[in-house]
Amino acid sequence: MMRLDKLLANSGFGTRKEVKKTLKKGGVTVDGIVAKDGKMHVDPDEQEVKVFGVEVEYKPYIYLMMNKPDGLLSATEDINQETVIDILEPEDVRYEPFPVGRLDKDTTGLLLITNDGKFAHQLTSPKRHVPKKYRAWLAEPLKDGDIEAFQQGIELDDGYVTKPAELCSENENGDVVEVTIYEGKYHQVKRMFAARRNRVVRLKREAMGSLQLDEDLEPGEYRDLTEEEYEMLK
Ligand code: URA
Repeated sequence: MMRLDKLLANSGFGTRKEVKKTLKKGGVTVDGIVAKDGKMHVDPDEQEVKVFGVEVEYKPYIYLMMNKPDGLLSATEDINQETVIDILEPEDVRYEPFPVGRLDKDTTGLLLITNDGKFAHQLTSPKRHVPKKYRAWLAEPLKDGDIEAFQQGIELDDGYVTKPAELCSENENGDVVEVTIYEGKYHQVKRMFAARRNRVVRLKREAMGSLQLDEDLEPGEYRDLTEEEYEMLK
């Protein structure tokens, strides 16, 4: 059960204030009876709510965690190329979800997909500095000074100096590393290594904030976030 005004506002019939006006005008019916009180509780699965004769299809929020595979665009749609939304089940697509931020076409790993704009904004807003952790496979092993340079901030090809980032080696050879950045400039990790005369061969996002990629998800698989995960990110 939920409040009628909330149901209407969440289903795209305007702000609560606009919804109130529509209700006052007598434009809303619940099971065929005009409803004027937004505080009325309705069950969107059981009751038929119409606005000026048009049935309200209730669409609550959806929050998905995908292990993005190589080769898909982090976009909602594209004329030529397959996107991460194209591989969702139709019952999930009906929520009109979109990816939270972007991963390059060849980057794999943790990608959140939602239809909750506020939630997405909170995670991607430059002001919030949400840490993003990546595993990178490099063409060359780390060199002296790389870790310190990442800590101090790297000047990219366009002159932008990145915020301090953490870098550590994950293997003896020093060519598999873990990088944590607190912002999300275009191709940032690849460009940071390019500035150090190295090259990222493969990149996988492993965490965003305190949310870790579920390692049980094969590339291309996804699942709903748990309540706990959602609360962690909010
Ligand atoms: N940095 C990159 O270079 N690519 C990504 O997809 C994400 C971060």
